[in-house]
Parts: sequence; structure tokens; C-alpha cells
Amino acid sequence: MDRNKKDKDHFIQLDAEKLKHIEAQRKRFLTETMQRAADIDSMRCPLCNRQLEEKIVNDISITICTKCRGIWLETESFAKMLRLSDDMVDTFLDGIKE
Ligand SMILES: [Zn+2]
Repeated sequence: MDRNKKDKDHFIQLDAEKLKHIEAQRKRFLTETMQRAADIDSMRCPLCNRQLEEKIVNDISITICTKCRGIWLETESFAKMLRLSDDMVDTFLDGIKE
């Protein structure tokens, strides 16, 4: 009887260790995957997969694709862009082309 209980406890302990190991692997995999996804998102154009470049045009920080000319703006940059006058919009667009 004691032997059965000892075996049972031993197996429960092994299962608990296996679960801990699986959980640690799952967390590590999730962290690495999220980091890779973040790196890809921040570095490559989602349209043509070209490397993105960071630029400052008219004091507005933008991330631009040199191939398709797509631009990505942080909220603050977007707000600054909305406040540009018509003349400044032309200057801004010229600055993107350079
Ligand atoms: Zn692109």
C-alpha cells in the first residue's frame, strides 16, 4: 500500500515537472515569436517587404518604404501632419521624395 502511494506521488511529481517544462517552453516560444513579429513589422514594408527607412521631414518623424513610397506615422507625427498648412504639405511631400 505504501509502495503504491509512493509510486503514485512519484508519477504526479514527474507530471508536474513535465508541465512546468512545457509551460516554460511555451512562454519562451511565445516571447521569441512576438519579438520576431515586432522586428519584422518595424523593419519591413508590409506591402512589398522592402526595408523601411526612418526620416525626419519638416520636423515630422516618418517611416518610409523606398520602393512603394508608403509611409507610416506614429500618432504624434500624424497629428503634426494634420496641422500642416497647404504650403507646408507640398514641402513635406517634396521632402519625402528626396
Ligand atoms: Zn513598400
